[in-house]
Amino acid sequence: MSEIEKMYEEMGICLKVLDFGSKIEAELKERFDEIDRRAEYNQLKVLHAMQKNHVSADCFNYVSGYGYDDHGRDTLEKIYADVFHTESALVRPQITCGTHALALSLSANLRPGDELVSASGKPYDTLEEVIGIRPSKGSLAEYGVSYKQVDLLEDGTFDFDSIRAAITEKTKMVTVQRSKGYQTRPSFSVSQIGEVIRFVKEIKPDVIFMVDNCYGEFVEEIEPSDVGADMVVGSLIKNPGGGLAPIGGYIAGKEECIENCAYRLTSPGLGKEVGASLGVMQAFYQGFFLAPTVVASALKGAIFAANIYEKLGYAVVPNGTESRHDIIQAVELGSADAMIAFCHGIQAAAPVDSYVMPEPWAMPGYDSDVIMAAGAFVQGSSIELSADGPIKPPYAVYFQGGLTWPSAKLGILMSLEHLVRAEIVQL
Ligand SMILES: *Cc1c(COP(=O)(O)O)cnc(C)c1O
Repeated sequence: MSEIEKMYEEMGICLKVLDFGSKIEAELKERFDEIDRRAEYNQLKVLHAMQKNHVSADCFNYVSGYGYDDHGRDTLEKIYADVFHTESALVRPQITCGTHALALSLSANLRPGDELVSASGKPYDTLEEVIGIRPSKGSLAEYGVSYKQVDLLEDGTFDFDSIRAAITEKTKMVTVQRSKGYQTRPSFSVSQIGEVIRFVKEIKPDVIFMVDNCYGEFVEEIEPSDVGADMVVGSLIKNPGGGLAPIGGYIAGKEECIENCAYRLTSPGLGKEVGASLGVMQAFYQGFFLAPTVVASALKGAIFAANIYEKLGYAVVPNGTESRHDIIQAVELGSADAMIAFCHGIQAAAPVDSYVMPEPWAMPGYDSDVIMAAGAFVQGSSIELSADGPIKPPYAVYFQGGLTWPSAKLGILMSLEHLVRAEIVQL
């Protein structure tokens, strides 16, 4: 037995599981090379922006109070704007999560009487209350902003005719969600998003086009802002935080849109000028610097898992060979027991809380029990290896993340190990 095989065995991975994984890994060499090339490009893009904006040690200073002239914060926002090729950006610890960033981008740029159109069907769960699809205190609906939704076609593509029909005088903003999130449709490529943006802008050039970019950053070499999006929005405890950002969200886009967001985030009149960075800047910078390779690790993990579970006969979305537009992998495991075993494996491979046994529980807002496996340095971070899913047919686990490829690989091998031990899978 080689040293590494011994190490895997010591950590609970039997030789059979390791061999099965190694064969799959060997077949993925070309795809992994392609992911590395993309990471190389994106790494240069980030590095170039950091050099151009003269990042220096004083960017990492602790700033408290009002935060006037917070040099680190202002420089980082220029870096984000350069990387996303936008006029401006807002990157703040005061943006508490992805939902907050999205809510901000909407509420800051919509006024009573305006209409929001979702061109990619039902948005992410948490946005239902933001928009008021599910009645909620403080929703856009309460402020007189109306909403229309154009569902995707059967095959998961945009319904261009219905989008045209949905756009009226009142339409102020159109939004698309890049990642499938927890739906079964495919995620969109940036070029598909570009196509729908062009289509919408031809019908109504002054529409503000916002893209929910969560889980998509650095998966491709271009971002939705490169193909005409007026705002791209995401969470720093996903891709662009690189696993180091302890909190935060970003919005990158047109000067006017971002200015509106800043006035809404802090206060009319104050805008971007206030909001002290409270010592998180080094993590924001370093996380953004690492993000391209962290995303590459997560992508390799997702592709590895897709190929392993596909080979074992499970339905996987995306499948083993499809191109990737986000870091989420769904595996339909077919039973509650299999979901639980899978999640136990993911948890057991984590650097934090590896000894904990995740259990299904009745999470608020869900109509069935949900199981979640996560052993993360940053609570709730889903750029770190994590898996979850509702315990109901088709018993799919959604899993994503992995700060390094070897740790993502261990997580997936461990999920398989637990399925083998539970005699759900025979190798
Ligand atoms: C995660 C996510 C959100 C919400 O982000 P939170 O940080 O969980 O609030 C919104 N949209 C998509 C597509 C996401 O993946």
